[in-house]
Amino acid sequence: ISARSAPLRGQQVLTADGTPVSVLANIALAVEAQGVFAQGADGIGLFRTEMLFCERSQAPDEEEQYQAYSEVLRCAAGKKITIRTLDIGGDKPCDFLDLPKEENPFLGYRAVRMYAQFHDIFTTQARALLRASVAGPLNIMVPMVATLAEIQWLHSQFHQIADTLQQEDIPVGEWHLGIMVEVPSTLYLLEKAAKYLDFVSIGSNDLAQYFFACDRGNPYVRHLYDYRNPTFLALMRDITQRAQAAGLAISLCGEMAADKQMLPLLMGMGLTQLSMAAGTIASCKETLMSLNIQQCQQLLETAIFSESSEDVSAHVEQFMRVQM
Ligand code: PEP
Ligand code: MG
Repeated sequence: ISARSAPLRGQQVLTADGTPVSVLANIALAVEAQGVFAQGADGIGLFRTEMLFCERSQAPDEEEQYQAYSEVLRCAAGKKITIRTLDIGGDKPCDFLDLPKEENPFLGYRAVRMYAQFHDIFTTQARALLRASVAGPLNIMVPMVATLAEIQWLHSQFHQIADTLQQEDIPVGEWHLGIMVEVPSTLYLLEKAAKYLDFVSIGSNDLAQYFFACDRGNPYVRHLYDYRNPTFLALMRDITQRAQAAGLAISLCGEMAADKQMLPLLMGMGLTQLSMAAGTIASCKETLMSLNIQQCQQLLETAIFSESSEDVSAHVEQFMRVQM
């Protein structure tokens, strides 16, 4: 098998100096699962479940969700799958929930912050996920976490729900609990969180929004929303290093992962699990195979010491010309 054909065969690629990298897919519907494996995905790093809940008058019941999650796990045939619990509020509305009108929805009532109030919806999804794990190992990921108290609550909830299923003689397979790192406070609780979690995934879309304090959809502040900014790269590097030091598996599932210019910087950070839109997987794999990690680490240092995003881009472009 030639290395060149690897991207489309769904095989994990190696960088030029032999570091394995997993390139995973982001999906929003269970029916997409089959297709992403045909496009070379090594797994699914983010299944956004909001679509299952959107534009309908009632939340999907446990059985409907169980079928959808099981279908994805069956398609994966043992490959890594991460399903994210409901991320509504902020920019993601929901027809059947009577949500408050807020001045600052992105800083407001969103995702994990609603789970205690809408406990039935949370529990139903958790039960469906835990039951689906019988079809293959499942990573369950929770969005918008900001505090250790939320992590402790989630940990105890998932364990209680798993225990209840066991008492009902309903089988549960292998599952792991993780969170999105998309609120900057999480950087400083990774060590403590490692007691309760197995993995984290950087959601660079929201992380950039909350780090730079600018609404990700607001055109007036778009210039501030920039993941190439040296300060943001330093933040990402610190998150990755601290997660790894704490023994937490780490991946990236924001749009940044699909930006080819970012790949050498991400490799320099040690981020070797990237999740992106399926259409970009094959070409990202091609680029990854040409990269040398040690050189990427040097490039990252240079980028972090740069004074602007433009300088970062210029350094990366020059680096890519030499590498490719
Ligand atoms: C993110 O915030 O980077 C992310 C992947 O989640 P979403 O875009 O769905 O908020
Ligand atoms: Mg997000």
